[in-house]
Amino acid sequence: MLSAQLQSDADALDQMRYDVKYLSSDLLEGREAGTPGEKLAADYVAAKFGNVGLMPYGDSASYLQAFTFQAEPFLGPANSLQIGRSQLKLEEAYGVLPFSAPGLARGKLLKAGFGIDAPALGRADYSGLDVQGRVVALLIGSPDGIHPHSKFLAHHDLQLRAEKAAELGAIGVVFYNDDKDTEEPSFHLSAKTKTCSIPVVYLKGDRHIDLAIDNNPVVINVDMQRQQRTAYNVVGLLDHGKDNVVVIGAHFDHLGWGDEGSLHRGEKAIHNGADDNASGVAVMLQLARDLLEMDQSRANDYLFIAFSGEEKGLFGSNHWTKHPTLPIEQLNYMINLDMVGRLDTTNVIGINGVGTSPTWAEVDRVLVGNLNVKTTSSGIGPSDHTSFYLKNVPAIHFFTGTHGDYHKPSDDEEKINYDGMLRVTRYIESLITTLNDDGKLVFTRTADADTANTPRFKVTLGVVPDYLYDGKGMRIDGVTDGKPASKAGLQVGDIVVKLGDIEVTDMMAYMKALSAFEKGATAPITVIREGKEVNAEVTF
Ligand SMILES: [Zn+2]
Repeated sequence: MLSAQLQSDADALDQMRYDVKYLSSDLLEGREAGTPGEKLAADYVAAKFGNVGLMPYGDSASYLQAFTFQAEPFLGPANSLQIGRSQLKLEEAYGVLPFSAPGLARGKLLKAGFGIDAPALGRADYSGLDVQGRVVALLIGSPDGIHPHSKFLAHHDLQLRAEKAAELGAIGVVFYNDDKDTEEPSFHLSAKTKTCSIPVVYLKGDRHIDLAIDNNPVVINVDMQRQQRTAYNVVGLLDHGKDNVVVIGAHFDHLGWGDEGSLHRGEKAIHNGADDNASGVAVMLQLARDLLEMDQSRANDYLFIAFSGEEKGLFGSNHWTKHPTLPIEQLNYMINLDMVGRLDTTNVIGINGVGTSPTWAEVDRVLVGNLNVKTTSSGIGPSDHTSFYLKNVPAIHFFTGTHGDYHKPSDDEEKINYDGMLRVTRYIESLITTLNDDGKLVFTRTADADTANTPRFKVTLGVVPDYLYDGKGMRIDGVTDGKPASKAGLQVGDIVVKLGDIEVTDMMAYMKALSAFEKGATAPITVIREGKEVNAEVTF
């Protein structure tokens, strides 16, 4: 039974409505991490924590915990390309490749075939050429075409070819294409792409191929702007003076005007994210108000965390678990609220991650709010509980299900089911009460832990990449038992630098490398473990 001092249902509904309305108002412009709207939301949650009387548990004496991340790069106004007498227009006649360095390259063109330097395969495009100080013109294809069975597969990557040119002394690269079967490269700029050391552009279509003549003068200016941005988690402790700490978390950031991840097409529009995830923040705040009053809650302390940067790749929860503001060993379990505002007439509440502790079997014994509980086992999913699971904390995720407004500007406040949110709140309060006498929950690893967001691969390595890692390679944040990486002996913290013949320079290169394999294939893999190179073999 819950204590009598609990806020009345009517008061709780009013509070949650107020919180969702504010957080999903146009004033906050969709709360994209690193924007003023996100800061307004963070300040709002911090003020609410203050009203409840939580102890500030962010940086020093503040509720806010700042972290920085690489924002998506963008092209500035100063891009230009002139070859011979032709001034080419950005986008129309040429594109800047995502891995291009910013800056100026002025020199004379030198054609160097495909820019493939592989004497062992009988191809040495640079033999006899003096590349020093030149802008090289390279074809994007390969001597035997661009397909997974090309013997030059390891040399297909344009970034590696540009780096090779730079290594030989080139000051810029102009790629072009004379083969209609070879697709134009992608110009999509991503914070996850590593930059090479020289400007690199691509001549679009075939109208300008004739400019690729030896000694044609060329001036490339690449104006690509990269920014570090700061975002904020909001952290407050309900301190009962206990050793065990329960984390209750919800991300408060969303997609702004349509960040990567938006499913909206057409005119830019504010993505208010009422269900995703103003709803979760409102339930979290209600839990803070209620747990303060509940006698049955006193077996634990409660750490409330509103995460930022979730939509960009669990940045905030990743940051908190790597820079915890209290000892992570004290954590008992974690409850994540992400999208809890759309309970429908089926009364189905999803609880993900029940395989992370045997104790979660209790969720079936809680019968409150007439909810129909549907569970999944894996501790890895597309939300912040994953970061805690990866630190061996039993973690579950409450979720009222997806819908047609998911990641669209139409995820608005008037579609929220407040009564449903209240029922979820009461359910969680009952669950916490039920677990009150259980002491610290036992953690278990879950078997099926495939990240759902890699559908375009035929194979998987069975790892969780560290999306915040920005050194060279792909750092492993989690390894799934029984999957190829685990069978090959790879460990958390390993940095994958080579897969098959392909150098893994960053996340993008990793994904490219992965897409080259079929199920059942075996490939050598090289990782850096504690500074040393380790070679292994994976079977997909
Ligand atoms: Zn989302």
